[in-house]
Amino acid sequence: MTRTAKSSGSFVLVRDLVKEYRLPRTGWRAARPTIRAVDGIDLDLGAGETLGLVGESGSGKSTVARLLVGLVEPTSGQVRMHGHDLMHLRGGELRAHRRNVQMVFQDPYSSFDPTARLVDSIAEPLRTHLGSSKPEQDARVADLLRLVGLDAGYRYRYPNQLSGGQLQRAAIARALAIEPDLVVLDEPVSALDVSTQAQVINLLRDLQARLSTSYLFIAHDLSVVEHVSHRVGVMYLGRIVESGPTEEVYERPVHPYTSALLDAVPVPDPVVQRRRRRLKLAGDTAGGTRPSGCRFRNRCPFAMAICAEVDPAPYVTQAGVTVRCHLHEHGPKLAGRSVRTLTGTGTASS
Ligand code: SF4
Repeated sequence: MTRTAKSSGSFVLVRDLVKEYRLPRTGWRAARPTIRAVDGIDLDLGAGETLGLVGESGSGKSTVARLLVGLVEPTSGQVRMHGHDLMHLRGGELRAHRRNVQMVFQDPYSSFDPTARLVDSIAEPLRTHLGSSKPEQDARVADLLRLVGLDAGYRYRYPNQLSGGQLQRAAIARALAIEPDLVVLDEPVSALDVSTQAQVINLLRDLQARLSTSYLFIAHDLSVVEHVSHRVGVMYLGRIVESGPTEEVYERPVHPYTSALLDAVPVPDPVVQRRRRRLKLAGDTAGGTRPSGCRFRNRCPFAMAICAEVDPAPYVTQAGVTVRCHLHEHGPKLAGRSVRTLTGTGTASS
Protein backbone atom coordinates (compact mmCIF):
# COMPACT_ATOMS: atom_id res chain seq x y z
CA MET A 1 0.00 0.00 0.00
CA THR A 2 1.43 3.38 -1.00
CA ARG A 3 1.17 6.53 1.10
CA THR A 4 -0.64 9.60 -0.20
CA ALA A 5 1.52 12.64 -0.90
CA LYS A 6 1.23 15.42 1.67
CA SER A 7 0.73 18.93 0.40
CA SER A 8 2.28 21.03 3.17
CA GLY A 9 4.95 23.56 2.19
CA SER A 10 8.52 22.30 1.93
CA PHE A 11 10.84 23.05 4.85
CA VAL A 12 13.79 21.38 3.11
CA LEU A 13 14.60 22.67 -0.35
CA VAL A 14 17.58 21.36 -2.30
CA ARG A 15 18.43 23.10 -5.54
CA ASP A 16 21.00 22.11 -8.15
CA LEU A 17 23.10 20.24 -5.58
CA VAL A 18 26.44 19.03 -6.93
CA LYS A 19 29.16 16.91 -5.31
CA GLU A 20 32.35 16.25 -7.24
CA TYR A 21 35.19 13.98 -6.17
CA ARG A 22 38.69 14.15 -7.59
CA LEU A 23 40.09 10.85 -8.74
CA PRO A 24 43.76 9.75 -8.74
CA ARG A 25 45.92 10.84 -11.71
CA THR A 26 46.04 8.39 -14.56
CA GLY A 27 49.58 9.48 -15.58
CA TRP A 28 52.53 11.55 -14.36
CA ARG A 29 51.51 14.71 -16.24
CA ALA A 30 47.76 14.07 -16.41
CA ALA A 31 45.35 16.38 -14.58
CA ARG A 32 43.31 14.72 -11.84
CA PRO A 33 39.93 13.78 -13.30
CA THR A 34 36.74 14.52 -11.38
CA ILE A 35 33.55 12.54 -11.07
CA ARG A 36 30.16 13.99 -10.19
CA ALA A 37 28.63 11.66 -7.60
CA VAL A 38 25.66 14.03 -7.35
CA ASP A 39 24.93 16.05 -10.46
CA GLY A 40 22.47 18.88 -9.98
CA ILE A 41 19.59 17.40 -8.00
CA ASP A 42 16.51 19.17 -6.62
CA LEU A 43 14.55 17.87 -3.62
CA ASP A 44 11.50 19.18 -1.74
CA LEU A 45 10.48 17.77 1.62
CA GLY A 46 7.51 18.86 3.74
CA ALA A 47 6.91 18.45 7.48
CA GLY A 48 5.89 14.92 8.43
CA GLU A 49 6.57 13.67 4.91
CA THR A 50 8.73 10.79 3.68
CA LEU A 51 10.69 11.10 0.46
CA GLY A 52 12.03 7.77 -0.77
CA LEU A 53 15.20 7.68 -2.86
CA VAL A 54 15.85 4.58 -4.96
CA GLY A 55 18.41 3.48 -7.52
CA GLU A 56 21.16 0.96 -8.12
CA SER A 57 24.43 1.12 -6.18
CA GLY A 58 26.59 3.92 -7.56
CA SER A 59 23.58 6.14 -8.29
CA GLY A 60 24.61 8.70 -5.65
CA LYS A 61 21.86 8.06 -3.07
CA SER A 62 24.19 7.74 -0.10
CA THR A 63 26.16 10.83 -1.13
CA VAL A 64 22.88 12.80 -1.05
CA ALA A 65 22.32 11.50 2.50
CA ARG A 66 25.80 12.57 3.59
CA LEU A 67 25.37 16.00 2.01
CA LEU A 68 22.11 16.63 3.85
CA VAL A 69 23.51 15.74 7.28
CA GLY A 70 26.73 17.68 6.64
CA LEU A 71 29.13 14.72 6.61
CA VAL A 72 30.45 15.97 3.25
CA GLU A 73 30.53 19.48 1.78
CA PRO A 74 28.70 20.16 -1.48
CA THR A 75 30.69 21.43 -4.46
CA SER A 76 27.84 23.81 -5.37
CA GLY A 77 24.10 24.22 -5.04
CA GLN A 78 21.69 25.15 -2.27
CA VAL A 79 20.38 23.28 0.77
CA ARG A 80 17.72 25.40 2.49
CA MET A 81 16.04 24.47 5.78
CA HIS A 82 13.30 26.69 7.18
CA GLY A 83 14.41 29.36 4.70
CA HIS A 84 18.10 29.37 5.75
CA ASP A 85 20.75 28.44 3.19
CA LEU A 86 23.02 26.02 5.07
CA MET A 87 25.89 26.83 2.68
CA HIS A 88 26.05 30.36 4.14
CA LEU A 89 25.76 29.52 7.85
CA ARG A 90 28.85 29.26 10.05
CA GLY A 91 29.73 28.33 13.64
CA GLY A 92 26.89 28.19 16.17
CA GLU A 93 24.19 28.97 13.62
CA LEU A 94 25.27 26.05 11.46
CA ARG A 95 25.45 23.70 14.47
CA ALA A 96 21.94 24.73 15.52
CA HIS A 97 20.61 23.84 12.09
CA ARG A 98 22.64 20.65 11.84
CA ARG A 99 21.07 19.26 14.99
CA ASN A 100 17.76 19.39 13.16
CA VAL A 101 19.01 16.65 10.85
CA GLN A 102 19.96 13.24 12.23
CA MET A 103 20.92 10.02 10.47
CA VAL A 104 20.33 6.28 10.83
CA PHE A 105 22.87 4.04 9.10
CA GLN A 106 22.51 0.65 7.46
CA ASP A 107 24.53 -1.41 9.94
CA PRO A 108 23.45 -0.73 13.53
CA TYR A 109 26.45 -2.61 14.99
CA SER A 110 29.01 -0.36 13.31
CA SER A 111 27.05 2.78 14.22
CA PHE A 112 27.45 2.18 17.99
CA ASP A 113 30.63 2.16 20.07
CA PRO A 114 30.92 -1.52 21.12
CA THR A 115 32.62 -0.55 24.40
CA ALA A 116 29.89 1.92 25.50
CA ARG A 117 26.57 1.12 27.14
CA LEU A 118 23.54 2.19 25.12
CA VAL A 119 22.66 4.92 27.62
CA ASP A 120 25.98 6.64 26.93
CA SER A 121 25.68 6.34 23.14
CA ILE A 122 22.04 7.41 22.91
CA ALA A 123 22.61 10.32 25.32
CA GLU A 124 25.50 11.68 23.26
CA PRO A 125 23.37 14.24 21.32
CA LEU A 126 21.71 15.27 24.61
CA ARG A 127 25.14 16.07 26.09
CA THR A 128 26.49 17.73 22.94
CA HIS A 129 23.52 19.85 21.92
CA LEU A 130 21.48 20.37 25.10
CA GLY A 131 24.06 20.02 27.89
CA SER A 132 21.70 17.70 29.81
CA SER A 133 22.71 16.47 33.27
CA LYS A 134 23.37 12.76 33.93
CA PRO A 135 19.97 12.14 35.59
CA GLU A 136 18.23 13.99 32.73
CA GLN A 137 20.10 11.88 30.18
CA ASP A 138 19.20 8.65 31.97
CA ALA A 139 15.49 9.52 32.16
CA ARG A 140 15.33 10.70 28.55
CA VAL A 141 17.08 7.57 27.23
CA ALA A 142 14.64 5.38 29.18
CA ASP A 143 11.73 7.28 27.56
CA LEU A 144 13.28 7.01 24.10
CA LEU A 145 13.78 3.25 24.41
CA ARG A 146 10.14 2.83 25.41
CA LEU A 147 9.14 5.04 22.46
CA VAL A 148 10.84 2.64 20.02
CA GLY A 149 9.35 -0.44 21.69
CA LEU A 150 12.34 -1.55 23.79
CA ASP A 151 12.52 -2.25 27.52
CA ALA A 152 14.01 0.77 29.32
CA GLY A 153 16.40 -1.59 31.13
CA TYR A 154 18.23 -2.15 27.82
CA ARG A 155 19.98 1.18 28.30
CA TYR A 156 22.52 -0.50 30.54
CA ARG A 157 23.38 -3.14 27.94
CA TYR A 158 26.19 -3.14 25.38
CA PRO A 159 25.48 -3.28 21.61
CA ASN A 160 26.52 -6.94 21.29
CA GLN A 161 23.83 -7.90 23.82
CA LEU A 162 21.03 -6.85 21.40
CA SER A 163 19.78 -8.39 18.16
CA GLY A 164 20.18 -6.44 14.88
CA GLY A 165 16.53 -5.35 14.95
CA GLN A 166 16.72 -4.24 18.59
CA LEU A 167 19.90 -2.30 17.94
CA GLN A 168 18.39 -0.57 14.90
CA ARG A 169 15.49 0.51 17.15
CA ALA A 170 18.10 1.92 19.54
CA ALA A 171 19.71 3.76 16.59
CA ILE A 172 16.33 5.29 15.76
CA ALA A 173 15.95 6.30 19.43
CA ARG A 174 19.34 8.03 19.27
CA ALA A 175 18.35 9.85 16.07
CA LEU A 176 15.15 11.12 17.71
CA ALA A 177 16.79 12.11 21.02
CA ILE A 178 16.84 15.86 20.32
CA GLU A 179 13.63 15.85 18.28
CA PRO A 180 15.07 16.68 14.86
CA ASP A 181 12.87 17.92 12.01
CA LEU A 182 14.48 15.52 9.55
CA VAL A 183 15.90 12.01 9.88
CA VAL A 184 17.93 10.65 6.98
CA LEU A 185 17.65 6.85 6.87
CA ASP A 186 20.31 5.24 4.68
CA GLU A 187 19.29 1.63 3.92
CA PRO A 188 17.95 1.30 7.50
CA VAL A 189 16.41 -2.15 7.11
CA SER A 190 18.53 -3.86 4.46
CA ALA A 191 20.75 -5.59 7.06
CA LEU A 192 17.69 -7.04 8.86
CA ASP A 193 15.66 -10.20 8.20
CA VAL A 194 12.27 -9.78 6.51
CA SER A 195 10.05 -9.99 9.61
CA THR A 196 12.26 -7.55 11.52
CA GLN A 197 12.23 -5.23 8.49
CA ALA A 198 8.44 -5.06 8.68
CA GLN A 199 8.55 -4.26 12.41
CA VAL A 200 11.06 -1.44 11.94
CA ILE A 201 9.10 -0.01 8.98
CA ASN A 202 5.90 -0.02 11.04
CA LEU A 203 7.77 1.62 13.91
CA LEU A 204 9.03 4.41 11.63
CA ARG A 205 5.54 5.06 10.27
CA ASP A 206 4.08 5.07 13.78
CA LEU A 207 6.73 7.48 15.08
CA GLN A 208 6.17 9.81 12.13
CA ALA A 209 2.44 9.92 12.82
CA ARG A 210 3.14 10.84 16.45
CA LEU A 211 6.08 13.23 16.03
CA SER A 212 5.60 14.68 12.49
CA THR A 213 9.28 14.05 11.76
CA SER A 214 10.25 14.10 8.07
CA TYR A 215 12.24 11.22 6.61
CA LEU A 216 14.55 10.94 3.65
CA PHE A 217 14.42 7.16 3.19
CA ILE A 218 17.14 5.67 1.01
CA ALA A 219 16.95 2.06 -0.15
CA HIS A 220 17.57 -0.17 -3.13
CA ASP A 221 14.51 -2.31 -2.26
CA LEU A 222 11.58 -0.75 -4.13
CA SER A 223 8.94 -2.63 -2.13
CA VAL A 224 10.21 -1.18 1.14
CA VAL A 225 10.32 2.35 -0.28
CA GLU A 226 6.76 2.00 -1.58
CA HIS A 227 5.48 1.23 1.92
CA VAL A 228 7.09 4.18 3.68
CA SER A 229 7.19 7.00 1.13
CA HIS A 230 4.70 9.73 0.28
CA ARG A 231 6.86 10.70 -2.69
CA VAL A 232 9.73 8.98 -4.41
CA GLY A 233 12.78 9.97 -6.45
CA VAL A 234 14.59 7.58 -8.78
CA MET A 235 18.34 8.23 -9.11
CA TYR A 236 20.59 7.19 -11.97
CA LEU A 237 24.29 8.12 -12.10
CA GLY A 238 23.99 11.18 -9.89
CA ARG A 239 20.67 12.51 -11.28
CA ILE A 240 17.05 12.16 -10.27
CA VAL A 241 15.49 10.92 -13.51
CA GLU A 242 11.92 10.60 -12.20
CA SER A 243 10.21 11.95 -9.07
CA GLY A 244 6.65 12.36 -7.91
CA PRO A 245 3.86 10.93 -5.74
CA THR A 246 4.71 7.32 -4.88
CA GLU A 247 1.48 5.79 -6.18
CA GLU A 248 1.79 7.59 -9.51
CA VAL A 249 5.43 6.62 -10.03
CA TYR A 250 4.84 2.97 -9.09
CA GLU A 251 1.64 2.57 -11.11
CA ARG A 252 2.53 4.60 -14.20
CA PRO A 253 6.32 5.01 -14.51
CA VAL A 254 7.25 7.61 -17.11
CA HIS A 255 11.00 6.89 -17.35
CA PRO A 256 12.30 3.61 -18.86
CA TYR A 257 14.74 3.17 -15.96
CA THR A 258 11.94 3.38 -13.36
CA SER A 259 9.86 0.94 -15.39
CA ALA A 260 12.73 -1.56 -15.59
CA LEU A 261 13.46 -1.28 -11.84
CA LEU A 262 9.80 -1.95 -11.05
CA ASP A 263 9.62 -4.83 -13.50
CA ALA A 264 12.62 -6.45 -11.77
CA VAL A 265 10.68 -6.73 -8.49
CA PRO A 266 9.43 -10.34 -8.29
CA VAL A 267 5.70 -10.96 -7.69
CA PRO A 268 4.73 -13.65 -5.15
CA ASP A 269 2.67 -15.76 -7.62
CA PRO A 270 5.10 -17.94 -9.71
CA VAL A 271 2.57 -18.32 -12.56
CA VAL A 272 2.06 -14.55 -12.84
CA GLN A 273 5.79 -14.08 -12.49
CA ARG A 274 6.48 -16.43 -15.45
CA ARG A 275 3.87 -14.76 -17.70
CA ARG A 276 4.87 -11.18 -16.96
CA ARG A 277 6.24 -9.15 -19.81
CA ARG A 278 9.11 -7.14 -18.40
CA LEU A 279 11.31 -4.32 -19.52
CA LYS A 280 14.82 -5.63 -18.92
CA LEU A 281 18.00 -3.60 -18.64
CA ALA A 282 21.25 -4.48 -20.32
CA GLY A 283 24.53 -3.84 -18.48
CA ASP A 284 24.97 -1.98 -15.20
CA THR A 285 26.34 1.29 -13.80
CA ALA A 286 29.78 -0.21 -13.11
CA GLY A 287 32.50 2.38 -13.56
CA GLY A 288 29.93 5.19 -13.59
CA THR A 289 30.68 6.05 -17.24
CA ARG A 290 28.41 8.84 -18.48
CA PRO A 291 27.76 8.92 -22.21
CA SER A 292 26.93 12.17 -24.03
CA GLY A 293 23.29 13.27 -24.07
CA CYS A 294 21.11 11.09 -21.86
CA ARG A 295 23.27 9.22 -19.36
CA PHE A 296 20.91 6.22 -19.53
CA ARG A 297 21.07 5.78 -23.32
CA ASN A 298 23.58 2.88 -23.35
CA ARG A 299 21.07 0.75 -21.47
CA CYS A 300 17.81 2.16 -22.80
CA PRO A 301 15.75 0.05 -25.25
CA PHE A 302 14.03 3.20 -26.59
CA ALA A 303 17.13 5.35 -27.27
CA MET A 304 16.73 7.69 -30.28
CA ALA A 305 19.21 9.86 -32.19
CA ILE A 306 18.46 12.91 -30.04
CA CYS A 307 19.32 10.92 -26.89
CA ALA A 308 22.99 10.82 -27.92
CA GLU A 309 23.14 14.58 -28.42
CA VAL A 310 20.91 16.32 -25.91
CA ASP A 311 20.73 15.85 -22.14
CA PRO A 312 16.97 15.67 -21.48
CA ALA A 313 15.54 18.63 -19.54
CA PRO A 314 12.93 18.08 -16.81
CA TYR A 315 9.40 17.51 -18.11
CA VAL A 316 6.48 17.81 -15.66
CA THR A 317 3.46 15.59 -16.29
CA GLN A 318 -0.15 16.47 -15.48
CA ALA A 319 0.06 14.04 -12.54
CA GLY A 320 2.88 16.11 -11.01
CA VAL A 321 5.72 13.75 -11.90
CA THR A 322 9.02 15.28 -13.07
CA VAL A 323 10.91 13.15 -15.60
CA ARG A 324 14.07 13.54 -17.67
CA CYS A 325 13.40 11.61 -20.89
CA HIS A 326 12.99 12.67 -24.53
CA LEU A 327 10.18 10.15 -25.10
CA HIS A 328 7.68 12.70 -23.80
CA GLU A 329 8.39 15.34 -26.44
CA HIS A 330 10.06 13.40 -29.26
CA GLY A 331 9.57 10.05 -30.99
CA PRO A 332 6.30 8.57 -29.63
CA LYS A 333 5.63 11.89 -27.77
CA LEU A 334 4.22 10.26 -24.67
CA ALA A 335 3.40 13.68 -23.17
CA GLY A 336 3.34 12.27 -19.65
CA ARG A 337 1.80 8.86 -20.43
CA SER A 338 3.51 5.82 -18.90
CA VAL A 339 6.35 4.14 -20.83
CA ARG A 340 4.39 0.95 -20.24
CA THR A 341 2.15 2.05 -23.11
CA LEU A 342 5.14 1.32 -25.36
CA THR A 343 5.92 -2.13 -24.02
CA GLY A 344 2.67 -3.55 -22.69
CA THR A 345 4.60 -4.39 -19.50
CA GLY A 346 3.03 -4.21 -16.04
CA THR A 347 -0.64 -3.63 -15.47
CA ALA A 348 -1.20 0.10 -15.71
CA SER A 349 -0.89 1.98 -18.92
CA SER A 350 -3.01 5.08 -18.75
FE1 SF4 B 1 15.98 6.40 -23.19
FE2 SF4 B 1 16.34 8.60 -24.65
FE3 SF4 B 1 14.63 8.62 -22.63
FE4 SF4 B 1 17.25 8.54 -22.18
S1 SF4 B 1 16.11 10.20 -23.13
S2 SF4 B 1 15.70 7.35 -21.15
S3 SF4 B 1 17.92 7.23 -23.87
S4 SF4 B 1 14.47 7.40 -24.49
